[in-house]
Amino acid sequence: MQTTKQAAADISSNNTDTSSKNNKQSSTTSCCVVHGPIIVGAGPSGLAVAATLRRHGVPFTVLERSDGIADLWTNRTYDRLRLHLPKVFCELPHVAFPDDFPTYPTKHDFLRYLRSYAAGFAVSPMFGRAVTRARFDAAAALWRVTAVSDDGAETEFVSRWLVVASGENAEVVVPKVKGRERFEGEVLHSSEYRSGERFKGKRVLVVGCGNSGMEMCLDLCEHGAMPFMSVRSGVHVLPREMFGSSTFGIAMKLLKWLPVKLVDRFLLLVASMVLGDTEKYGLKRPKLGPLEIKNITGKSPVLDVGAWSLIKSGNIKAFAVTNCRLYQKSSHSTATGARFVDGNEMAFDAVIFATGYRSNVPSWLKDGDLFTEDGKPKAQHPSNWRGPNGLYCVGFSGRGLLGAGADALRAAADIAGRWQEMVAAAAGAKISSV
Ligand SMILES: Cc1cc2nc3c(=O)[nH]c(=O)nc-3n(C[C@H](O)[C@H](O)[C@H](O)COP(=O)(O)OP(=O)(O)OC[C@H]3O[C@@H](n4cnc5c(N)ncnc54)[C@H](O)[C@@H]3O)c2cc1C
Repeated sequence: MQTTKQAAADISSNNTDTSSKNNKQSSTTSCCVVHGPIIVGAGPSGLAVAATLRRHGVPFTVLERSDGIADLWTNRTYDRLRLHLPKVFCELPHVAFPDDFPTYPTKHDFLRYLRSYAAGFAVSPMFGRAVTRARFDAAAALWRVTAVSDDGAETEFVSRWLVVASGENAEVVVPKVKGRERFEGEVLHSSEYRSGERFKGKRVLVVGCGNSGMEMCLDLCEHGAMPFMSVRSGVHVLPREMFGSSTFGIAMKLLKWLPVKLVDRFLLLVASMVLGDTEKYGLKRPKLGPLEIKNITGKSPVLDVGAWSLIKSGNIKAFAVTNCRLYQKSSHSTATGARFVDGNEMAFDAVIFATGYRSNVPSWLKDGDLFTEDGKPKAQHPSNWRGPNGLYCVGFSGRGLLGAGADALRAAADIAGRWQEMVAAAAGAKISSV
């Protein structure tokens, strides 16, 4: 079978007309008209939609900015990471995880699964292609997608359909902090953290208390560092398992019968029985319940994998403050440290921002009216996967891999229907012209 890359190149050479007439960009931009949709991103979402299109017999071209699939999982996650949810909730369409994988696969297991998934469906992305711009050309009814390759060369890919699968976590979020330039310790984002090994014996401030922040604190402790966790707003910590089953699984089952508020109450009751009062240790619970918050903001509750007992024992110190803002070299006692707006000052050797990620869609998608300025879909799940003019998005429902799989099935089926109509119309036109 011809690879998508080959197909794209072949088609490109057959369409030099399109290239010269419509190319309004730099004279060095080459043009490539592709069969089927353009998919931006070769993470789990991009792979899932490509695999499903393959099953429908629709060709596609996947553009990926990095040099391999699943850049987030390969290059921007810590060593000890496992899937936060049981594997049954993280499978991509059509392929289950192998039986010998643990319930919570490691990131290496997950990457093995993804590589074999891509190979099984003959998905060969074009790597080193960062999409910098995508516009809908209304006159031609085509998407014009500009990608820059590692050597700086620009290519314009042209297609009727565009699938945005660049992820909710495409760019890191690091808050602006006064005095950061004068702080003499190490400052990094959680995407650069691999292991606590090199922080042994050091005092480390972890800013943020989501799943990553909590797990990094645990890792730092296990490597002999002293983690301090700053908690800006409230956080729901839940045990990863309840009554021998996954908390997430239990919540999913209950939601089939009960309203969200009631399920939240149940989860919080069990959490308080299993974990005790988290507020006593600096982790204020938000007013809304964990599932309600997830639905409204997309923010996941923390599923505890061991950090909680270290917070209780005082090995991880959590600050329930809203004022962790100022980092600067102290004039007196501490060489490097953080000063909080309440006047307290503490010495730290390193600061890790576990402050999350954001989508980069607004920086390159210029048409379509599908996304907000923050790069989130405008419509609510489950009607957020399709926009106008052949535009789709996969993996933006705030529902992790499970949501990405569901989006991929819907988007691929819709594109396949249109593809088949187009093929039938083209065949009809050929017959009538004979
Ligand atoms: C630490 C961590 C742990 C997580 N654990 C879980 C979990 O256990 N279960 C779960 O369901 N979810 C989990 N998630 C959420 C997770 O991000 C998603 O489930 C999954 O990675 C989403 O896949 P995606 O393909 O939509 O996005 P990504 O994995 O982010 O993939 C997007 C791809 O698009 C590429 N890209 C971005 N911009 C461009 C561009 N302009 N041009 C070309 N390519 C581009 C990126 O390089 C990347 O390869 C976790 C997230 C993090 C950060």
